[in-house]
Amino acid sequence: MIYDLFIIGGGINGAGIACDAAGRGLSVYLCEKDDFASGTSSKSSKLIHGGLRYLETFDFKLVRKALKEREILSFKAPHLIKPVPFIMPFNVNIHAPWLIRLGIWFYDHLAKKSLPSSTSTLSRLEYKSLKLKYQKGIKYYDCWVDDARLVICNLQHAQKLGAHIQNYHQCISIKSEQKYWVISVLNVLTHEVIEIKAKALVNATGIWADQTNALINPKHFRKRLSLVQGSHIMVPKWYLGQHAYILQTNDKRVVFVIPDGKNAIIGTTDIAYEGSLEDIQISALEKEYLISVINVYFNIALNKSDIIHCYSGVRPLVKDGHNRLSKISREYVIEKEIHHELNLVNIYGGKLTTYRQLAEDVLKQLQTVFPNMKPAWTKKEKFPSASFDTLKQYYYDLRRQKSWLPKDLLLMYTRKYGTFTSVLLGEAQSTDDLGIDFGHGLFQIEIDYLLKYEWVKTIDDILWRRTKFGISMSEDDKSRLNQYISEYK
Ligand SMILES: Cc1cc2nc3c(=O)[nH]c(=O)nc-3n(C[C@H](O)[C@H](O)[C@H](O)COP(=O)(O)OP(=O)(O)OC[C@H]3O[C@@H](n4cnc5c(N)ncnc54)[C@H](O)[C@@H]3O)c2cc1C
Repeated sequence: MIYDLFIIGGGINGAGIACDAAGRGLSVYLCEKDDFASGTSSKSSKLIHGGLRYLETFDFKLVRKALKEREILSFKAPHLIKPVPFIMPFNVNIHAPWLIRLGIWFYDHLAKKSLPSSTSTLSRLEYKSLKLKYQKGIKYYDCWVDDARLVICNLQHAQKLGAHIQNYHQCISIKSEQKYWVISVLNVLTHEVIEIKAKALVNATGIWADQTNALINPKHFRKRLSLVQGSHIMVPKWYLGQHAYILQTNDKRVVFVIPDGKNAIIGTTDIAYEGSLEDIQISALEKEYLISVINVYFNIALNKSDIIHCYSGVRPLVKDGHNRLSKISREYVIEKEIHHELNLVNIYGGKLTTYRQLAEDVLKQLQTVFPNMKPAWTKKEKFPSASFDTLKQYYYDLRRQKSWLPKDLLLMYTRKYGTFTSVLLGEAQSTDDLGIDFGHGLFQIEIDYLLKYEWVKTIDDILWRRTKFGISMSEDDKSRLNQYISEYK
């Protein structure tokens, strides 16, 4: 078979393009060398946001585009994306309060009004954990998403529309032969190599984009990316409430504190990165930096021993004139090349928030190759797992049907899987039907669903991307789970 479109990379951008292209009637093949979202797309701050701080660099176009996408994505995946109030304490040594108010007023007005407006009135809960001199500030709203699950959501939709999707398949060579691209793909689990032919090719390999380009253009490729590391630490949440904080720092950046159940995620950093792309680790300096910002603002003395989990990612940014890494634009760049009359589209940079618009822009570039392609459609269509009127209604309907199921478990399932929760629970009639208990709310019934419907191949796919149980599970529970997965195969 000859595919219309071959996509290399199963992060948010590759997944978004696969979904859009399949819905327009193209035959699509997507390969991911590791697990889906194992690159930058599971290492983000998980915000679907305009990016308040980009106003400072006058990146209004990006902020407006991202805020528009915030609306669209909240409509498409309301089970995965939720509004979160952000508190920004004033810090007169960094920015005057009037300037912050003006910036947030602007941010509010660039967005459509579906989230509450910003306010300078903070509740006691919101300010009392801050040091006295930082207890005045402003509250505004942005959105949070489970980044890795947003990737899966797109892939499931793409698959439903006919796309061929494979994780643990690495693109190892690319040739242009007469009318088609010929792509060699290595199954990294079985070491088998297959050849796929396609009419057009998309390089959506994020921080590997330069390397992938070198496969195609070994002699003439141009290094386009600036790699900038960003790390997060997770600590037990020291304040009450489910609001987030955005803290201005002396080095003219911001650090987020984002609630995650009983914990808080603190990030991020901006450090030039030159290490291995396969093993990105937080440094001791980054940990100290993040802790020090918290200790400036809050009435606590956080230290390294409080850290329960860390993660680090690298931003694939496009080199521009800025020396300050935090100021390099987060806007994406799409470059089309023609090789012996064959089209290649390279993607550089971008944000999780703007992936859907990026996918539309990529397909616009391919209009001449596929003149009969259907028009853009993703803006108005929800994901298949969001086929409810409201999530709340769906939750209550299911609760009536499965009244034996603990409420917090049902809530967790509906937030992660949306209407696919009904598939996950199937005919289960009682807690016995949940099967083996792997601890912390992970049951056999969820594992079976993931193995069957979400391309799970290894324990890490479950622990760190389909769910985040890796943070809380004991080593014993992990080895029981590992055994279960290997026996299931
Ligand atoms: C610290 C940090 C915080 C961030 N926070 C936010 C945020 O809050 N909001 C936001 O909107 N954005 C955020 N971003 C940006 C966002 O995460 C990225 O722009 C986005 O995830 C990039 O997605 P991608 O698909 O381009 O890359 P990736 O997710 O890295 O996907 C590329 C994939 O290609 C695969 N691949 C590479 N080579 C091959 C090959 N030869 N064959 C097959 N597959 C291959 C890789 O394994 C990888 O999975 C953040 C980024 C970082 C680093």
